[in-house]
Amino acid sequence: MADKWNLIIDIDRCNGCYNCALATKDEYVGNSEPGYFAPQPRHGHNWVEVRQKERGEYPALDVSYMPVMCNHCDDAPCLKASSNGAVTKRDDGIVVIDPDKARGQKAIVDACPYGAVFWNEDLQIPQHWPFDAHLLDRGWAAPRCVEVCATGAITAVKTSDDAMRKIVREEKLAVRRPELATRPRVYYKNLDRAETEFIAGTVVSAAGGTTECAVGARVSLFRNAMHERETTCDVFGDFRFDRLTPGSGSYCIAATLENLSASVDVSRLDRSIYVGRISLASSQRS
Ligand code: SF4
Ligand code: SF4
Repeated sequence: MADKWNLIIDIDRCNGCYNCALATKDEYVGNSEPGYFAPQPRHGHNWVEVRQKERGEYPALDVSYMPVMCNHCDDAPCLKASSNGAVTKRDDGIVVIDPDKARGQKAIVDACPYGAVFWNEDLQIPQHWPFDAHLLDRGWAAPRCVEVCATGAITAVKTSDDAMRKIVREEKLAVRRPELATRPRVYYKNLDRAETEFIAGTVVSAAGGTTECAVGARVSLFRNAMHERETTCDVFGDFRFDRLTPGSGSYCIAATLENLSASVDVSRLDRSIYVGRISLASSQRS
C-alpha cells in the first residue's frame, strides 16, 4: 500500500507568527495549476488560518495558537457531496478539488464540517488548501507551510497508515472533532492546550509582620474533594494548574509552607482564572 501524507501540528510550539498562513497566500493568490487549483482571491479566503485563544486574567494570561486547514479526511464529506468527480482522494491521501469540474458545486462548501472550503464568488468554485500537491508532485519534501515554520510546529510525514497509527499512539496525537468520524490526516499535539483552562494564583506568607512571596510553598489541587495534583510555588510565589477541563466540578486549592497553611475554593471553572493572593498567615484569599 502506498505511503500517504499526514500533517502534525504541535500547539505548544506555535508562536502565532502567521508565516504558514502568509506562505500559503503567497503560493495561491494570483497563481493557478490546472487540475490542482485556481487562483485564491486576495481577500476573504484563509486556506491556512491561525486561530488564537486567550486564557486567564491579569496577571496570569497566556495565548495559544492553532493553525487549521483542510484535514484531507479519509472519509471526507466534501467528496461525498460532490458530483462529476470534482473531489478526489489521491493514493497519497491528499484530497483535491478540481477547479473546472467543481464549478457551481456550492454543496462542497456546505458539506465540510470544518469550514475548510471557501466559495470563490468570481469563479463560482469551491476552494481549499490542497496540501501543496502540485509542489509535492514536483519533488518538494514538504508543503510551504512546513518549510517556513521556524519553530518546527508543523511537520509533514509521508508514511504507511500502520506507521502513522504508531506515531499517533506514541506521540499522543489527536484530531479536531473526532466525533465527526471523518478520519482527518491533520493531527495535533497538545491540542488540549487550546481546549482546556487553568487556575493560577500567588501564595504569600505574612508571618513575622512582613508579606513575602512563599517561595517553595506546596500547592495541592483538589477536585470534588479528591486530591488531583501538586505543584511548588516559584520565586514569585506563583503557581499554576493547567489543562483543566472547564465546567467539570468544584476545585479547592490548598497551600502549605512549614507550619502555615491556607486554601481557597473555586466553585466552578468556566474559564481560566487567577485566584489572587493566598495568604498563609491569615489562611484567607486577599
Ligand atoms: S509558521 Fe509555525 S509558528 Fe508560525 S503560526 Fe504557523 S505553525 Fe505557528
Ligand atoms: S476538512 Fe473538509 S474539505 Fe477537507 S477533506 Fe475534510 S471534509 Fe473535505
